[in-house]
Amino acid sequence: MRTFFSDYQIDQLPTYRFAVFTNPNVILKLHDYTEYERILTVQEVPIILERLANKHTSKISYQQNKQIRSFLISRHQERFSVILEKHQIMWEDLKKGVPCPDCSRRSMIRERMRWQCTYCGTRSTDAHTKLLFKLALLTNNRLTKAMVQDFLQIPTADATRKLIARAGYHKAGVRKGAIYYHPGIPASGHKAQASGHKTSKSGHKKQKKWPLNHQKWP
Ligand SMILES: [Zn+2]
Repeated sequence: MRTFFSDYQIDQLPTYRFAVFTNPNVILKLHDYTEYERILTVQEVPIILERLANKHTSKISYQQNKQIRSFLISRHQERFSVILEKHQIMWEDLKKGVPCPDCSRRSMIRERMRWQCTYCGTRSTDAHTKLLFKLALLTNNRLTKAMVQDFLQIPTADATRKLIARAGYHKAGVRKGAIYYHPGIPASGHKAQASGHKTSKSGHKKQKKWPLNHQKWP
């Protein structure tokens, strides 16, 4: 956060680190975890914020606060990490198949452009969306048709291609070398290849200049 602020020439503000579990049903049991004060459930956030706010006098106006807030949201990016390697998980260990939005079993089959659960009968047109996005995150945003077909258990390559395209993924490269990527996932960690992604020269970092309508901040 501090680096981000200094990159965009925003004056530093008091910064604190927390990890927040956003699922309201989560129960946290932290035993002997030294940083336990930094791990919160979502219900605790307002109290913590109030406590922190009381420690500081306000440095910026409500308007400036609002601008920074929207700027931060507009610059949000999914974090890229080599999660499988990091946790020594093999591709083969991942569960295949599209989970049913109702019964959560991986028993959805693709039939006539939609999914049908062979267990509970639920039908869905977009049951694959989340899984596809997760796959893109796991593969450093480089999906291949064969991988998607195998993971989502789609009967034909052609149906797979259509499904990927309809889900808003972009194609780079041709024939066997073709990969598909989600435009919303940053290319950080990518080694751009000649036949690979078209990553804009300007990169992601400075696309949108801050301050947006200030010559100087504040
Ligand atoms: Zn089901």
